[in-house]
Amino acid sequence: MEFKMKPAYHGYRAYAYLEEGKDYPKFDWADWDWAGRHVLDLTDEEEARVAEILANTPYISLHDHPTLFPRKMDSADDITDAMRNGREMTAYEALAYSNLDCVFDNQLDGVNIISSPGGWKWIDIIHDLGMRLCDIAHQDFLVHCKTVDDIFAAKKAGKIAWVAVVEGAAPIENEVDRIDILYGLGIRQLGVTYSESNALGSGCKENHDGGLTKFGEKCVERMNQVGMLIDVSHCAPQTAYDAVMHSKKPIIASHVGAKGVWPTKRMASDELIKAVAEKGGVIGIEAAPHTTMSKTNMTHDIDSFMEHFEYVKNMVGIDHVGFGVDCLYGDHVGVHHAFSAALSLASTAKTGVAPYEEVPFVKYLENTTESSWNIPRWLVKHGYSDEEIAKVLGGNAIRVLREVWA
Ligand SMILES: [Zn+2]
Repeated sequence: MEFKMKPAYHGYRAYAYLEEGKDYPKFDWADWDWAGRHVLDLTDEEEARVAEILANTPYISLHDHPTLFPRKMDSADDITDAMRNGREMTAYEALAYSNLDCVFDNQLDGVNIISSPGGWKWIDIIHDLGMRLCDIAHQDFLVHCKTVDDIFAAKKAGKIAWVAVVEGAAPIENEVDRIDILYGLGIRQLGVTYSESNALGSGCKENHDGGLTKFGEKCVERMNQVGMLIDVSHCAPQTAYDAVMHSKKPIIASHVGAKGVWPTKRMASDELIKAVAEKGGVIGIEAAPHTTMSKTNMTHDIDSFMEHFEYVKNMVGIDHVGFGVDCLYGDHVGVHHAFSAALSLASTAKTGVAPYEEVPFVKYLENTTESSWNIPRWLVKHGYSDEEIAKVLGGNAIRVLREVWA
């Protein structure tokens, strides 16, 4: 079984309207499939079922970083220079080999260090977004997605609906109107906090969780008013819970796992998972290296990832779970090593059951493309019905987006 390419892709490469090395610095980007192409084996009958489900169901990834990363990750200088350049390379070809109809792109987020080592500056977020939109304006395979109709239209045309996301609200500082500005510029999802705290509330790395601030409440109200989808993936528990309770619309945890399966600060508590579901929202399961592991499976792979999926599904039902695999194209483990501090990994990934064995990549979920082939295959192999698979691949997300983006 080989990855198949969407015929609507005609070979566009990022910034092809400029001359690399002359108009902007040349970097040595990793091949998007640098770790190989791994596909779970299926019988012919199962293969036919997967094809039929994918043909009929919009498939949405609620959280990804579908851009190229430098080949060399052993020297922090290479990746730091590449990130400071502020010109992310959308991985068009890799996305063309995926099964996705819609991808939520979280851009540079925690490694947005264009003008500052601390990152997350307003001006840098706008730079990042504008640069991506300029590139996207020069091709016709990714469509800047602002409505649910855009997702269905992209699927029909064999293209991909590209949703612009900002993963944490630190860049809005104390300016609630910046939520309107982000929406106006085409951002459709905003995280309340990243792992560190901001003016809205506490991030998941903190030892003390003050909950959603008064300013945070105002921002939740504004996000409801403008139609911005709220994400609580990186919030500390009380802050996340308060945001869910304060919101009048469903919210999501776009990329998490369950603390009940793997007890780190980055994983969601049972209480939060239930609150998100009761509000009508969706919990997207995360696959970044060494996040969604389990005590029974200390090597991160698709089975431990799916343990998180099944735990959430068994607790709140099939209508409230989906996927936000949080992958990128390049050596993701290397990115974690180079940006451990900026990504708050040491303080959010600690568990009571460490040490675990580090993997070089998460087989079957190594990048956005590979994940989009293997998640539906795993679900078919493990006895899920067509209806259940349609819900978790996209139906549940569509339900939330119809309520929120309207
Ligand atoms: Zn994240």
